[in-house]
Amino acid sequence: MKKIKSEEKLCLICMTEHEVDTVEVIETEIYKDEEISFVATYEYCSLADEFLEKEEMIKLNDLAMKDAYRRKMDLLTSDEIVKIREKYGVSQKDFSEILGWGKATITRYENHQVQDRAHDDVLRKIDSAPNWFLEMLNRARGRISDKAFDKYYRIANERYKKKRNQYLIDAIQAKYADFDIESFNGGVKLNLNKVVEMINYLAAKVESLHKVKLMKMLWYSDYLHYKRNGVSISGLVYRALPMGAVPEECNLIVELDGVEFDTVIYGEDMVGYRFKPDTGLEIKELTQSEIDALDDVIEQFGDFNTEQIVEKMHNEDAYKYTGSNCIIPFTFAENLSID
Ligand SMILES: [Zn+2]
Repeated sequence: MKKIKSEEKLCLICMTEHEVDTVEVIETEIYKDEEISFVATYEYCSLADEFLEKEEMIKLNDLAMKDAYRRKMDLLTSDEIVKIREKYGVSQKDFSEILGWGKATITRYENHQVQDRAHDDVLRKIDSAPNWFLEMLNRARGRISDKAFDKYYRIANERYKKKRNQYLIDAIQAKYADFDIESFNGGVKLNLNKVVEMINYLAAKVESLHKVKLMKMLWYSDYLHYKRNGVSISGLVYRALPMGAVPEECNLIVELDGVEFDTVIYGEDMVGYRFKPDTGLEIKELTQSEIDALDDVIEQFGDFNTEQIVEKMHNEDAYKYTGSNCIIPFTFAENLSID
């Protein structure tokens, strides 16, 4: 028994005025054939050595027991259910509507009614997969107010983008764990914030920046900085492909938050990317020497078209002496055609 507070008042057990304690007690009950231990709260009369369960305590103790049962059965507790709903900023009523459940279902689950396993799984999935919530939300369109729909959509979409970006970052970093070798990464660990800033910096200053050219300009910037300072900028690792240097995982990199492009169609069925600056993005991580390298690469190659920059790259020793499809080592930096 643990005392949590004490108050001079009329004791409803012995009907005299004295210090009445509020205490916590570990209780054990059988609920749905399970033995459940939980912390219950009572008033305690030390004169009569008796407990009193006041009306609000009956509710709280019942909830404590249900939550202990939920924990034992590995179900979400009432608080966890509230938190999931609040992450999406959704009202109880709308949440039930979106999930296609009975009107009061969520309200009951956030209180005394223990949810079944299937509903519990749905709630967990909503918590971990905002895209799935977005689908459910779309299905509920028209059944909730437009204003509420817009608000929920915005919040869920924001959560989705964050999750997706984190997934991309993890996937790229996992791949790069194998490349932590100076001649591969130019002596720096991959910094994706810098990669995103470099792409934005180039996209802001180079007109019509397509994918092939962007990849070459990133390589030239990293390589030039390495030549000058003995370290690369981004930590990207480049492979010698037929069109020149291409960073490992470049298809994931262009999907990162903060990388913006328009999709353009050339000729028949050729889809290209034209990069553009993300208006909200500030350059925060690039240092002056890194910006200088980028500026010099822009000055040299900013006006080149794709064929010209590919040809330029093909004539670099770093490219000529690297086996096709192999990683381009930074060891040829001193022979780079620009200083
Ligand atoms: Zn008493």
